[in-house]
Amino acid sequence: MSKIIAINAGSSSLKFKLFEMNTEQVLAQGLFDRIGLAKGAIKIKYGINEKFETNEEIKNHSYAVKRLLELLLNLEIIHDFSEIKGVGHRVVAGGEYFKRSVTIDSKVIKKINSLAEYAPIHNPANLMGIKAFKKILPAATAVAVFDTSFHQTMPKENYIFSVPYEWYQKYGVRRYGAHGTSHRYVANVAAAILKRPLDELKLISCHLGAGASVCAIKNGKSFDISMGFTPLTGITMATRSGDTDVAMLSFMMQKLDMHSMPEAIYDLNKKSGLLGISGVSSDMRDVMAKSDTNPRAQLAVDIFVKDIVKYIGSYTAEMGGVDGIIFTAGIGENSAEIRSAVLQRLSYMGIEVDEESNSVRGENIVISTKGSKVKALVVPTDEELMIARDVTKIMEKKRVKSAKLV
Ligand code: ADP
Repeated sequence: MSKIIAINAGSSSLKFKLFEMNTEQVLAQGLFDRIGLAKGAIKIKYGINEKFETNEEIKNHSYAVKRLLELLLNLEIIHDFSEIKGVGHRVVAGGEYFKRSVTIDSKVIKKINSLAEYAPIHNPANLMGIKAFKKILPAATAVAVFDTSFHQTMPKENYIFSVPYEWYQKYGVRRYGAHGTSHRYVANVAAAILKRPLDELKLISCHLGAGASVCAIKNGKSFDISMGFTPLTGITMATRSGDTDVAMLSFMMQKLDMHSMPEAIYDLNKKSGLLGISGVSSDMRDVMAKSDTNPRAQLAVDIFVKDIVKYIGSYTAEMGGVDGIIFTAGIGENSAEIRSAVLQRLSYMGIEVDEESNSVRGENIVISTKGSKVKALVVPTDEELMIARDVTKIMEKKRVKSAKLV
C-alpha cells in the first residue's frame, strides 16, 4: 500500500489530492487558500462525504504543508507521515528541458527556477510547494509533472512561430502549450473507452474550462496545441482573448493612453474573452443564462463555439483525419448545449450526436451515435490522478533499478 499526494501550488493557494495508489482511491482532497493574506481558508473533503473547513491565518507555503499533514493526522486520514511515499508537484513551465516527469533533486530545482522567465507567477509558486514538502517529508519521492512536457513531441512546423528564427534560438520563443497533463489523461481514457490502442488513434481533445485549449493528439503524442508561448492564444476563454492581431495593441495603447505593453497584455488576459465580448461575466453559466435576452452574451457563446469548430477543422486537416473528439473540464464536462452546438457544426465529418448520452453528466461516455464515423466523447479530467500515476511509475522504476543493483 502506498499513499501518494498530488500538489498544485499557486502563489496564494495550495490544492492537494491524496491517493491510495494500488487502488487509485481518493482518500482526501482540499484547498489551502489565501496563503500569506489576512484571512486564510482551509477546506478538506475526506471519507464518505466528510468535510473539514476553517478560517485561519496561513503564513506561507511551508506552514500550509505543515498544517496539511497535521490535519491529515488529526482527521485520521493517515496515522504517520511516513505513509506518504511520494509527492507529485504540478509545474507550469518545463521549457524544452523537461520532456517528461522527473524526480526532483537540487539540479531540477535550479532548472525550474531558471525557467521562471516563461511563467513568472507560476514556477516560483510551484517551487515554494516543492521546497516546503522537501523540508517536511524528506524521505518521500518528489516528482515534478510539467504542463508543457506532453507537448514536447510536436513537430517543429507546429511549434516554431513565423517570426525571426533567432528569437527561438537565442530566447526560446516558441509554442510550449499548456494543459498537457489533462490532455494526456483524457486521451488515455478515450483510447480505453474506444477499445483501441492510443498509438493508432488521431484524437482532438477540447479542454474547456476558464482556461481553454484544443490539442491534436496523433498516435498518442501531442501534435499541436492551441495555446502558444503563453496560455493567451488559441480559442476564446473566460477572460483571455485567444488568437488576435498583436498589431492592434499599439493602436489601442494610443487610444487608451496606455504606457506599457504589460498593461495592454493585461487587458487581453483579464478583460477579454467571454467577459470582454459579453460584458456580462467570465463564467460560461452566467453568459449562457443571459444569451436569450442579451445579444452580446449570445455573441460570446457563438464565438466560443466557432473557435472550437475552427480548431477541430484545422487539426483534422493537419493530422489527415480524426477518430475521436474529446470534451473535458468545466464547460466540456457539464454543458451538453455547448457540446451539441460544436458537434452539430461538424456533421460534415460524419459525426452524429446521441442526445441521450450527451445529457449524462460526470461520467466517461461516448456521446456520438453508433453509426458515427468520428466518435465524440466526454471524459472528466483528473490531472491529479495523472500526477499520482507518474509518481508511482517513477517510484516503481527506481525500485526495479535498485533491486537490480543489489
Ligand atoms: P478552471 O480552468 O478554473 O479549472 P473549470 O474547468 O472549473 O475552470 O471550468 C469553469 C467553467 O466551467 C466556468 O466557465 C463555468 O461556468 C463552466 N461550467 C461549469 N458548469 C457548467 C454548465 N453546466 N454549463 C456551462 N458551463 C459550465
